[in-house]
Amino acid sequence: MEGDGQGGVFRKECVSSPKRTRDAAEGSAQSKTSTLWRHLWQLPIQNAEKHFLWHACHDSLPTRANLCSRKVLTDPSCPICAREPEMLFHTLWMCPAARDVWSEGGACFQKSSFAGPEFLQVVEGMISRCDRLEFIQFVGIARRLWLRRNDFIHSGLFTHPMVLFKQALQVTELFQTLTARRQTDWVSMAESSNTAWTAPLPSWFKANWDAGVDIKQGRVGSGAVLRDHQGKMWAARSQTRHGFLDPSVAEALGALLAVQLCMEMGIQQVQLEGDAKNVIMVVNSEASDESSKGQLPTDIRSSLRAISAWEMRYVRRGENKVAHAFARLAVNEDVQMVWFYNTPE
Ligand SMILES: [Zn+2]
Repeated sequence: MEGDGQGGVFRKECVSSPKRTRDAAEGSAQSKTSTLWRHLWQLPIQNAEKHFLWHACHDSLPTRANLCSRKVLTDPSCPICAREPEMLFHTLWMCPAARDVWSEGGACFQKSSFAGPEFLQVVEGMISRCDRLEFIQFVGIARRLWLRRNDFIHSGLFTHPMVLFKQALQVTELFQTLTARRQTDWVSMAESSNTAWTAPLPSWFKANWDAGVDIKQGRVGSGAVLRDHQGKMWAARSQTRHGFLDPSVAEALGALLAVQLCMEMGIQQVQLEGDAKNVIMVVNSEASDESSKGQLPTDIRSSLRAISAWEMRYVRRGENKVAHAFARLAVNEDVQMVWFYNTPE
């Protein structure tokens, strides 16, 4: 990353999807879809937008046409223009009300034409025609079109096309700025707090992890950071889980996150450090009965088999500040991200 706040590769992990089994049955469609999603998860957009896009591409939003095919409704016509059945391709792209919004934008929004009938075709077309920023704007606008359609049905409100377009762009820009600033902040923090951090042996790496709990929001966050013996950041990760509120479970999830980060980077010699004594003790214990330790320590130990040399040890909080920051990012802001600053040879 070397001081450039936006240079690190930005990646979102795969999440499971309700349609995954259908994809699996579709053979080659699956690999096409997974390539598409690998691209999409890398985008610096809000989680809500990623989820919207996922459902839009899988045609799993409750359009009137979809509700009719499930026998929930009998009239499929577009609630806005009433000229066509309300399929997603119509609502988000062909409906005159949608065209009014897209015509506010640049050539790739105004001039592109697609045959349909799936919205996925628009998404794929936009990926090939737009640059990265335009595609991010495309997602923001499409989601706002869907939200506007819902507002219209539920409360009769209908945002003016120009206003909708500007709002979508503002939100996109704000998120981009925040994300870029956060990444820069974390890296400079990593570098400045290296004083308290002790380096591993040359050719070894060090992975620190930490975790936190937000009882009010009902979520735990874990953070892990991987550095080389010179203290240079190689990768970092923030992960949120909902529903587990036990701090020791959160810490065990953090340890697992650190091990997974090492595996992803192909690291073979690593010192793992955290400030949760009980988790470290359980993972280090040689007891033959794995089941007595619970599922997470068992998962950690079995993941560690992929790494040829490792040790796990306790550090004081002061030496674990960077991992703590990535855990706070997950807890406070529900951020799920991986940053790669260096790539293995
Ligand atoms: Zn319409």
